[in-house]
Amino acid sequence: MEHFDAVIVGAGVVGLAIAAKLSEQFSKVLLIDKNACFGEETSSRNSEVIHAGIYYPSSSLKAKLCVQGKEALYRYCEKMQIPHQRLGKFLVAHNEDDEDFLHKTVTLAEQNGVCDLTWRTQSQLRAIEPELAASAALSSPSTGIIDVHSYMQSLLVTFQQNGGLFVANTKMNAAEPMNNGFELQITSVNDAITLSTQYLINSGGLHSSKVATTIAGLAADSIPALHYCRGHYFSYMGKSPFEHLIYPIPEANGLGIHASLDIGGQLKFGPDTQYINELSYGVDEQLREKFYLAIKQYFPRINREKLQPAYAGIRPKLQGENDGFCDFKIQTSKEHQVGGLVNLYGIDSPGLTSSLAIAEYVLQSLLDD
Ligand SMILES: Cc1cc2nc3c(=O)[nH]c(=O)nc-3n(C[C@H](O)[C@H](O)[C@H](O)COP(=O)(O)OP(=O)(O)OC[C@H]3O[C@@H](n4cnc5c(N)ncnc54)[C@H](O)[C@@H]3O)c2cc1C
Repeated sequence: MEHFDAVIVGAGVVGLAIAAKLSEQFSKVLLIDKNACFGEETSSRNSEVIHAGIYYPSSSLKAKLCVQGKEALYRYCEKMQIPHQRLGKFLVAHNEDDEDFLHKTVTLAEQNGVCDLTWRTQSQLRAIEPELAASAALSSPSTGIIDVHSYMQSLLVTFQQNGGLFVANTKMNAAEPMNNGFELQITSVNDAITLSTQYLINSGGLHSSKVATTIAGLAADSIPALHYCRGHYFSYMGKSPFEHLIYPIPEANGLGIHASLDIGGQLKFGPDTQYINELSYGVDEQLREKFYLAIKQYFPRINREKLQPAYAGIRPKLQGENDGFCDFKIQTSKEHQVGGLVNLYGIDSPGLTSSLAIAEYVLQSLLDD
């Protein structure tokens, strides 16, 4: 039976970042994904925004790992020449209540270590973004965009150069704790394989709770239920009217239908929030009207006909539709009492931004185990 120092289940952006990090420390690291390629799920269905870390409660992992991850990600992008841009974003207000919210946001952001927010008046905004309608806005210069595919590709190359092994079309079916590690049952294409590993990392994204149920010895009440919250995107044909990312005031389960650009300059709007029971990625044409009305608030000259259904992503949420904020849940043996195991649950936004910091956090927790 082949033995590994560490096995990572799930090659999304977070699993890839963890694999790259662990391969610096350990000589035999295996990364598997059930799909035919890495990053085919949530990691390639998001806004591709490098978040500043503004909104999250200050003691949360989301706040800490987003701010650390943002800095690490910009450094990584520069070093590895990953296409990215610090475009900056405007968080826009339309009335006094919104402006009060923005003032509170400055305080929250400062508690999180984000101290670069500046206030923009209506007349300043008119000069910078003439198509934008707002009474005022906060400018966040450290918000940016990234080509996620290039980033994931680069993490994979780093991992492989460190001697790591990535195998696609390979699913973890079961894990049994044994002396100093685990015995794993996996299916690779059509072959059933048994292998052993000292450390096991469950980075299964939307499936991480399901993966956890296959790990013997893990108490059922330690495994949280995941809720699926789909976000749709519409692309906007033609030249972008904006040079910055434009965000409305956040809503309960997402950041609101915002305007963001990809590295190629294509403008897209989204995501909205829709809780669903089954994983499905369709974008209903009929959502156009809802998008049109939301966007019109900050982009009054929007042309409805230029909105085209684009794609959808699904957030693996720990909170149900009417629940409050939930943090990332990165469970180590301190929480679940199974040595050598880390389960990652609820890695929704800002998981991409936080990926390198999550990887560092996971490594430290294994070394402290
Ligand atoms: C609509 C939307 C917008 C977002 N926008 C942003 C943003 O702008 N900025 C930001 O920072 N974050 C954003 N996020 C969050 C970010 O996309 C995620 O946090 C991140 O992609 C999660 O990566 P992951 O590796 O944990 O999960 P995934 O990408 O879902 O990867 C999990 C992998 O595990 C594999 N897997 C599952 N079970 C098994 C098994 N049994 N065996 C083998 N493999 C398995 C799956 O095939 C999958 O490839 C957004 C998310 C959504 C949904």
